[in-house]
Amino acid sequence: MAFTLSGDDAIHPVLPSPVPDPYWVGFSSSAAQLIGIPLNAAGLPQDPAWLALLAGNTLDIGSQQFPNPLASAYSGHQFGVWAGQLGDGRAILLGDIAGQELQLKGAGKTRYSRMGDGRAVLRSSIREFLCSEAMHSLGIPTTRALSVVGSDLPVRRETIETAAICARLAPSFIRIGHFEHYAASQNVDRLKELADLLIQDHYPECQPSDEPYLDLFKQISSRNAILVAQWQAVGFCHGVLNSDNISALGLTIDYGPFGFLDHFQIDHICNHSDQGGRYAYHRQPQIMHWNMACLASALIPLLTLNHSEEEAQTLLKEALDHFPTVYAQEWQSLFRAKLGFSTSEDGDIQLIERLLQAMHDSRVDFTNLFRGLSSISLNSALDTIDLRNDFINQPLIDQWLSDYLLRLRAESSDDVERKHRMSSVNPKYILRNHLAQAAIEKAQNKDFSGVATLLKLLEKPFDEHPAFQEYAIAPPPNLATIEVSCSS
Ligand code: AMP
Ligand code: MG
Repeated sequence: MAFTLSGDDAIHPVLPSPVPDPYWVGFSSSAAQLIGIPLNAAGLPQDPAWLALLAGNTLDIGSQQFPNPLASAYSGHQFGVWAGQLGDGRAILLGDIAGQELQLKGAGKTRYSRMGDGRAVLRSSIREFLCSEAMHSLGIPTTRALSVVGSDLPVRRETIETAAICARLAPSFIRIGHFEHYAASQNVDRLKELADLLIQDHYPECQPSDEPYLDLFKQISSRNAILVAQWQAVGFCHGVLNSDNISALGLTIDYGPFGFLDHFQIDHICNHSDQGGRYAYHRQPQIMHWNMACLASALIPLLTLNHSEEEAQTLLKEALDHFPTVYAQEWQSLFRAKLGFSTSEDGDIQLIERLLQAMHDSRVDFTNLFRGLSSISLNSALDTIDLRNDFINQPLIDQWLSDYLLRLRAESSDDVERKHRMSSVNPKYILRNHLAQAAIEKAQNKDFSGVATLLKLLEKPFDEHPAFQEYAIAPPPNLATIEVSCSS
């Protein structure tokens, strides 16, 4: 159910602002199926009125009505600093459909737009659209993207660009920042209502508990610990892990200056505006933990309904301390699976870390390396294993490869079966920045075929797609340094 707390000044009705002459830029038939939109042979809605709806130009298309669109306030820590009131500055929640909330991003100003124009540009909307659907197909929890609708409406950023609206779907768009909002304004009634709503709709297992709010915290923290482990395992950098960009359902949310690692660098920073590297790849787990500490602080007033302040803090602190364990367990199991191990042995973590260090030293392509490992045969002579040529220090990687083969032989691993398993967890195709960029440049010239091709490929990232091999190649050096910042 949509996040509607009655009579709340943090929830504000708002109408989307129409755009002139909207057109489809991208449409996800798989996301459409989730909410039961009847589609035509081209994979677009049979009812052409959907285009107007998803452009923000109408709220009633006969088959669907969204009479009460709204925007919500939230707060948050941006780059570690309390930013006071934020909110859906450019996102408008249209309402519920088939168990999902439908939200338009870039559909105009809301009460919470501050100095912003409420719009999103074509390039950032395409990136969000493609990456949401790519993450979903990688099996990583995420908000979904139904569509990108473009318009020639000019939008000013560093240069003049054009507007686009991305339609997103999620069971709920509640963020950690929503809790922080009510905690900061000491509105315990609303804080409680928000937590109760979340429990009722999304965490019913917490309902019978004596400590429902503590359990809610544990669940949210654990989902986000697992989420960040999943990001690490596909080399995904979020880019802006501010507490207002962290989902209360443990979904990846708010795709901005994200990036998948090409050449592996453990401290890779994907957001050009993040000069200190706060959100670098290797810091994501600790930053997510930090965000969970923000949530824990915001929940203290709910635990003090039954406990002293000191007890409440102790209980939440103990729960927060589980984060690193949940994260580490998930990380280890994901990386064991990436290496094709079906048992768990003491030396595994060391083996994984030795590989990552060697990859970092030689800046080896993250995705291709793991995919390539799946083709190794137990009886391979080391000098026949192609991927060793990607490493500068060959004696080091040879030693690693022989230890790896020994480890596999010790569990009597079967080449064919292992390859099958490894290929289902090590994707061949990820949304590399240079691929997104090429599709965006085409789209800026009104050719949307690049968006459609990437979507199709990324919907099946574990398949071989023999005709699309070039999409699996790491970018040449001149394309490896595309800079993406928050300005979108
Ligand atoms: P973000 O970095 O995209 O997560 O945005 C941070 C905050 O600024 C959120 O409250 C957004 O809703 C808001 N915001 C970002 N861009 C715009 C924009 N163009 N117009 C209005 N609000 C925006
Ligand atoms: Mg945001």
